[in-house]
Amino acid sequence: MSFLFNTHNRSGIAFAMGQGCYLFDEANNKYLDFASGIAVNSLGHCHPEVNKALTKQANKLWHVSNLYTISEAEAFAKQMCDFTFADKAFFCNSGAEAVECMIKIIRRYFFLKNQPQKNRIITFKNSFHGRTIATVCASANYKYMEGFAPFLDGFDCIDCGDIELVKKTITDKTAGIIIEPVQGEGGVNFVGAAFLQDLRELCNQKNILLALDEVQCGMGRTGTLFAYEQAGIKPDVLAFAKGIANGFPLGGCLATGDAASAITPGTHGTTYGSNPLAMAVGSCVFGIISNPNFLHGVKEVADYLDEKLKNIIASHPDLFVKPRGLGLMRGIECSAALQASVFVEVARVNNLLLATAGQNVIRILPPLIIGKSEVDEFAESFNKTIKSL
Ligand SMILES: *Cc1c(COP(=O)(O)O)cnc(C)c1O
Repeated sequence: MSFLFNTHNRSGIAFAMGQGCYLFDEANNKYLDFASGIAVNSLGHCHPEVNKALTKQANKLWHVSNLYTISEAEAFAKQMCDFTFADKAFFCNSGAEAVECMIKIIRRYFFLKNQPQKNRIITFKNSFHGRTIATVCASANYKYMEGFAPFLDGFDCIDCGDIELVKKTITDKTAGIIIEPVQGEGGVNFVGAAFLQDLRELCNQKNILLALDEVQCGMGRTGTLFAYEQAGIKPDVLAFAKGIANGFPLGGCLATGDAASAITPGTHGTTYGSNPLAMAVGSCVFGIISNPNFLHGVKEVADYLDEKLKNIIASHPDLFVKPRGLGLMRGIECSAALQASVFVEVARVNNLLLATAGQNVIRILPPLIIGKSEVDEFAESFNKTIKSL
């Protein structure tokens, strides 16, 4: 009997320790972690440099308040802006809060421009933006909304990938577009560079803010620091979280100076935001991942994984349909003959941790620090799982 809210169908497995790409359960069984706590442990478990940054800051200062200047936050914000499109950063504690901040920026931006009627946001089906009332309504996924009425208005959720449909949906009330460049929970769907470019152009023409939810696909996950780089575009606002602090709760927004001007003192904030402990960990993780050599390594090992996935799928056309995703954010779409959730359970018995996504997709999210040997080990366990189905 658990004293926790019944939010998840949890596996009985309990991990006691983590090291690099591996987790160890209470009986000391070793698991290859290709789920990374859902794209969170980007540098693997208990990364020595990150642990050092955490303990160093823990012995110095944990929390103050945004009533004061927080030099760790000033420095980290500059560090993030130096490596991205952004002029300004905001820190909070989770992905949903980061997206919530984007929604507020989009609405208030046009309010301050004396266009308060311009307050609707276009979003896309199969997206996932978090679990607050605003973010579940943004995704318009009734599975997550049922029982939580009244719903929040202001979102026009449409099919993803059809630029003509986006054009048709835009009215003089449209203020912003929120999109995940690679949909995570929805099934590991890369929306495509061309679609992102078309959205950027459309937003410029119609004076609409382009807001990217890179909570899952950002922070090196796809082989570039952020996924938007692969489309050669720049957003107006971007939400990050998950991989940013390797498991320390941290999220936030990046924005152009123009978009960020929507937020003025008193209009947004959070108690823990910019907390020195979170800043120290985030800055350390960001420093490692933003290094071009590190990102080059991610791309290289992602290509190697891609080859393995293609081989696996080609050898089992009865079970698998096609690979999905980008970089180290991968999925395998299963055929009707195989339930992705069953596969993930059997893989766990074979000491391989995976996740599921969307409609019957096996989601593969290894730590970004994997090498070819971990990919080989993954392929071996994956094939063993197929045999033991
Ligand atoms: C996980 C996720 C969120 C929500 O993040 P939380 O930290 O769980 O609130 C939002 N957007 C995307 C794309 C995500 O993958």
